Amino acid sequence: MGARILIVEDEPAIRNMVRFALVRAAFEVDEAPDAEQARSRILEQPPDLVLLDWMLPGVSGIDLARRLKKDPLTRHIPIVMLTARGEEEDRVRGLESGSDDYVVKPFSPRELVARIRAVLRRSMPHRGEEVVEVQGLEVDQAAHRVTAGDEEIKLGRTEFRLLQFLITHPERVHSRGQLLDRVWGPHVVVEERTVDVHVLRLRKALSGYGYDRLIQTVRGAGYRFSARSDER
Ligand code: CA
Repeated sequence: MGARILIVEDEPAIRNMVRFALVRAAFEVDEAPDAEQARSRILEQPPDLVLLDWMLPGVSGIDLARRLKKDPLTRHIPIVMLTARGEEEDRVRGLESGSDDYVVKPFSPRELVARIRAVLRRSMPHRGEEVVEVQGLEVDQAAHRVTAGDEEIKLGRTEFRLLQFLITHPERVHSRGQLLDRVWGPHVVVEERTVDVHVLRLRKALSGYGYDRLIQTVRGAGYRFSARSDER
């Protein structure tokens, strides 16, 4: 599955051009014409990256970037700003708002795709890896097998998918709604409590090896996979 990119741009011609380039580069694309709709799209279906136009009607791209970087549920989402401005002062403002990179208009589709890929590589270090390993816990995504050293840890199907998603999207908080969307699927209707039940099972299965500590509860927000013990 390609990374999910949200394009926030009010000009249909540019939006269409960008969408075309991204779809051709095998990204999954979502669109919003302004900051307000962008926010609701992001909460409904969190993208892996936001491509954000600086000049938007109403709330500007830079203000939206600041808001997204303040909210613990969205601050991990990388932002690439699209801007017609190339002046030094604007570049500094763009990066101060928390944007991860920016592309100056007019840009070539090839340049845009290259910049997006570079930012995604930094934010999703395990993307495309078949076997993801954290502190000796190994998740083989092709074989659907989890091991600790030489020992296999038996997991149910949902627990496996939950661990797979969390370990490939580490060091960020996922709300129960977001986990339902990404692990169970956007059209599955289950209660958010279901997430807690499966997290509990997953932790129990991992606890014999001490890995349950990697699945952390963030009060009032959701869950996080983290190898940093000091953030608990
Ligand atoms: Ca614009």
